[in-house]
Amino acid sequence: MQIKSYGQSDVGRVRSSNEDAWAVFPDLQFFVVADGMGGHAAGEIASHMAVDTMHDFMRTSVQASEVTWPADMDRNLPVPIRRLVAAGKLANEKIFQASRSNSKLNGMGTTMVAILIDQGTAYVGHVGDSRAYLFRDGKIDRLTEDHSLINDYIHQGLLKIEEANQHPLKHVITRALGSGLKVEVDVKSVPLREGDALLLCSDGLSNLLTDEELRTTSLDFLKEPQIVCQRLIDLANEKGGEDNVTVVFISSLGTDTLRPNR
Ligand code: CA
Repeated sequence: MQIKSYGQSDVGRVRSSNEDAWAVFPDLQFFVVADGMGGHAAGEIASHMAVDTMHDFMRTSVQASEVTWPADMDRNLPVPIRRLVAAGKLANEKIFQASRSNSKLNGMGTTMVAILIDQGTAYVGHVGDSRAYLFRDGKIDRLTEDHSLINDYIHQGLLKIEEANQHPLKHVITRALGSGLKVEVDVKSVPLREGDALLLCSDGLSNLLTDEELRTTSLDFLKEPQIVCQRLIDLANEKGGEDNVTVVFISSLGTDTLRPNR
């Protein structure tokens, strides 16, 4: 399966600095978005540490037989899942240790959403409220469950989904890389089909655009990731750009020439 990908980040219309980080590594088929938090430059440091640490681990773990897995790793899990989880845990440790050893970095942390494609299957790992979406057959499907206070409220029946984006506590996340010695990384696997596309984004996008807006904007240029990224960022900025906006878009280019139904 041939893959085409692109990533882009924008500071938005309100903030003076960008605490998001992203990277695409087509040779590794590894894609990641992180949204940092913490005072001063700490959020930016945390998100870049997450991206860099995960990238390094992905590169060194290509030969899985040479990897020393974390002690608590379930050896029965498929190797791509182990790689994603181990990379996330390693990033967590590094960020946590850095925040403990430097008072200026105290309390920093970051979300992470990453995709590793291996033999036609997309493995999606995440911590926090950065999201992954799948576009298939003209439909949009969210692949991640936010680790956020608001999502907990929704599950407890305290809040309706449509009230979530307006809620004053919408930025509060319940799980992050760097906030504790250990972290749990959620992983999901999706066997890809020709014509599928995947989106990774920070909440600066998903808080402002509805699923329907994400769907129609992406479907118009499904096989042109660069155009999709620019359009999504423009749309978020048109709607106020209240936060940093980061998107990574991945298209699988099959032999299928049919455009999905709108
Ligand atoms: Ca954000």
